[in-house]
Amino acid sequence: ARKFFVGGNWKSNGTISSVKDLVFKVLNPAPINFSKVDVVVAPMAIHIPLVQSILRPEIQIAAQNASITGQGAYTGEISPEHFKDQAVPWIILGHSERRNFYGETDQIVAGKIKRTLGAGIQVIACIGENLKERESGVTTEVITRQLSAIKNSISDWRNVVIAYEPVWAIGTGVSANPNQAQEVHAEIRKWLHANAGDVAAKTTRVIYGGSVTDANSNELIGQPDIDGFLVGGASLKPGFISIVESCA
Ligand code: 13P
Repeated sequence: ARKFFVGGNWKSNGTISSVKDLVFKVLNPAPINFSKVDVVVAPMAIHIPLVQSILRPEIQIAAQNASITGQGAYTGEISPEHFKDQAVPWIILGHSERRNFYGETDQIVAGKIKRTLGAGIQVIACIGENLKERESGVTTEVITRQLSAIKNSISDWRNVVIAYEPVWAIGTGVSANPNQAQEVHAEIRKWLHANAGDVAAKTTRVIYGGSVTDANSNELIGQPDIDGFLVGGASLKPGFISIVESCA
């Protein structure tokens, strides 16, 4: 059985003060069954050292992005090697906001994943179709294309979690319904079976993201191929704990 996985993607939100509140008032005191669920939060890069210094050790930390380049003359970039040096165990890559607002192509995402895994950091790899693609019936083609693009960057699937995040569901309040999500998660697992092998298909966590709240997490987690969540807006609030609890 796959262990559940819940990520909180804080995106470009928060202040030193609000981050402290979230850690001390919500995350640290919460009764979480860590034997059933991995919990990972992704603060803004500038807040990572602060969060590392105050967060309970059972909750892990992710970066939200990393550069495709290493150390060197790359103004403004933070490389996977830097996150390794900072003892950050996870990096979210390929988020639709990176793809759509910052021009990250499938090839760029593949390069970042390769570099990150090479640095010894685990990856939360995001994929998902937009509304136009869903409406024109090419969802399977899109996720297959996105998965195929990163396939050669991954030699050990144990270091990867796949986040299915339909773009039309992100930040819209319109989550995929459990059947819609399950349908795509099953497609992803089918792809894993064909492209990464039987073991990877059985063991790789495939999590859902897009307007997950404590009001819909229970019905979503009931689906056989949904192994957890990548939560945006709701991860900044106390309801995040209820989402975690729906898995454990
Ligand atoms: P929301 O939960 O705010 O829809 O965001 C989802 C997401 O993008 C997580 O990475």
